[in-house]
Amino acid sequence: MIFQNLEKYGCEEVVFFFDKGTGLKAIVVIHDTTLGPALGGTRLWNYHSEEEALIDALKLAKDMSRKASVSGLDCGGGKAVVLGDSSNKTEAMIRAYAQCIDSLQGRLITGQDVGIDIEDTLIMKQETKYIVGTSEKVRDPSLFTAHGTVYGMKACAKEAFENPRLTGLKVAIQGVGHVGYHLAKELYQEGVALVVSDMREEQTNRVADECNAEVVPLEEIYSVDCDIFAPCALGATINDETIPKLKCKVVAGSANNQLKENAHGDELHKRGILYAPDYVINAGGLIAAYMEWKEKTPQEIMNKVEQIGDRIEEIIATSKKTGEPTYKIAHKLADARIMNQRREQKANKKA
Ligand code: NAD
Repeated sequence: MIFQNLEKYGCEEVVFFFDKGTGLKAIVVIHDTTLGPALGGTRLWNYHSEEEALIDALKLAKDMSRKASVSGLDCGGGKAVVLGDSSNKTEAMIRAYAQCIDSLQGRLITGQDVGIDIEDTLIMKQETKYIVGTSEKVRDPSLFTAHGTVYGMKACAKEAFENPRLTGLKVAIQGVGHVGYHLAKELYQEGVALVVSDMREEQTNRVADECNAEVVPLEEIYSVDCDIFAPCALGATINDETIPKLKCKVVAGSANNQLKENAHGDELHKRGILYAPDYVINAGGLIAAYMEWKEKTPQEIMNKVEQIGDRIEEIIATSKKTGEPTYKIAHKLADARIMNQRREQKANKKA
């Protein structure tokens, strides 16, 4: 089972860590380091099985390689998962985990993800230098993810509505958690009308109060008569059931793995709905972490995050030229940069 999965997802290195003293069980996946050391957060999750944990880490690490590549960062993709319930998380376990990361000597640089918060990464930082997202500059990655999403939306609006300004448009946001909330705030300030859904009432109430958003029940968000649909909750929400309901001209949001299958990207394209590839538009958090690692200033970080708009424009332009869906163009761009670098490295070795 292990090697079958490694072959399927392809990766350079997988390391299993077990610490008897604290009960720590962790899997670190280093997917690709062609462009630089692997960068990817650590997720703590109560997986149903060890296989499920491994597959999650493999999939997420592969996505990180593409995200880093297409964003023009000199780093590779990786991900780590700690198996267990967050209610059983202890400082000793976090320290033991950080020591495991340290033993990789910088092949994985990690930070926050689901179940691992800023307090945990501050503890980890005492054990290893290979931690990002701890400086005041980038403590909340969702702020950068939301900001990058706004710039991606502007690029889409330029194409779909012949105007990059979002003012006067109507955006439906599915999920107003960390990213969705900041996104709603930024869009509201730009004069966008908002419709939102979330299973947590306190979240929708906050956005209704602060951004004058209309709140709709969970299932109604897909059929809202809007300009842009922004999935900011779960993955696989663009699927056979939801596509026929969409009334928007653009799908642009922060959620990872929005397309249930690649075929759903083809279907959006056929219907003339412009899709902003998820790992391109939601790369703001990764970009901020990378720029913090490179000791860049807050202004340099913001500038780099805003370049997400240029990247989406480039993808749209290529898609128009070749007639291929945007998600395919993104894959090609991401994979080509890694392949070119690999070829160059091989040639240099031979020389
Ligand atoms: P979050 O958990 O803070 O917010 C998600 C929100 O979605 C929650 O409020 C939750 O109640 C809501 N939700 C769950 N199921 C829903 C449903 N069926 N309908 C409507 N709402 C639902 O997570 P987040 O950090 O805001 O991330 C949002 C998405 O963006 C995730 O897919 C995440 O993987 C992706 N993402 C986040 C970042 C980041 O910087 N946080 C970076 C890249 C990608």
